[in-house]
Amino acid sequence: MSDEIIVLKDVCYKYEESSHNAVDHVSMTVRRGEMTAVLGRNGSGKSTLVKLINGLILPDSGTVLTDGMDTQDDEHVWDIRQRAGMVFQNPDNQLVATVVREDVAFGLENTGVPSTDMPERIDAALKAVNMTDFAERAPHLLSGGQKQRVAIAGILAMRPDIMLFDEATAMLDPRGRKEVFETVRQLNREGMTVVWITHFMEEAAQCETVHIMHDGGLVLSGTPQEVFSDRERLQNWRLDVPPMAALAQHLRAAGVGLPEGILSIDDMTREVEALAAHL
Ligand code: ADP
Ligand code: MG
Repeated sequence: MSDEIIVLKDVCYKYEESSHNAVDHVSMTVRRGEMTAVLGRNGSGKSTLVKLINGLILPDSGTVLTDGMDTQDDEHVWDIRQRAGMVFQNPDNQLVATVVREDVAFGLENTGVPSTDMPERIDAALKAVNMTDFAERAPHLLSGGQKQRVAIAGILAMRPDIMLFDEATAMLDPRGRKEVFETVRQLNREGMTVVWITHFMEEAAQCETVHIMHDGGLVLSGTPQEVFSDRERLQNWRLDVPPMAALAQHLRAAGVGLPEGILSIDDMTREVEALAAHL
């Protein structure tokens, strides 16, 4: 098994009606087991990128290898879609059944999984997103965060190797956002490769790698520390640093002795405690 589970080589894609490339000469790799964030303002090409990764659309030029399979190979189409599952922004559009358990079963029914194996897969998927107690509930009565977790379970039941999230927390309240992000973070710790498109810098700060897209191009890749080190550069792409990084910067400017590299509440807490200990 190759360590590089997603490989894009000089990929271009243009929508038929459009005059410019939505994805423009993008090369990138995602390592197996990695949680990688994709940032970029609206229209920068993020959604197009993940659709290329799971073979929903095919590149005009360049190559996309997903789990070692070329997405241009007709014979791999279904395999790729199953191995690289997608979760979208609006949970309501992804739930189809009247009972949670049936919703999770829905995707499986078209994949040729024997019906005797299905209950076990559904139970495991619901457990992984901490929704076991809701198996017999009506999806429309759930909170946004719970609905997204059911949508995630529906993908998980198909046992993918990769999960692609296209702004999966954008429509949720802060609590739902946290609950979904933590669920995905946990799946990643257990081995899932995750591509996480987001507008929330604090989420990106908790990923291992961050990619920034701008006008279809991949303009910067690195660790959160690398990517968020230069606030002015980020502003070129209409992006900001995570809230705690901005706060740290303000405090430093005001003479508070905080180090570089603070990205999260945990980082800030640790550093402020360290400062307080020396008072
Ligand atoms: P993002 O997800 O970062 O907002 P998209 O991948 O949706 O960006 O869009 C990238 C570019 O492709 C934009 O210029 C957008 O207008 C264009 N685009 C997206 N979807 C379509 C479509 N179905 N038809 C034509 N152009 C599209
Ligand atoms: Mg999008």
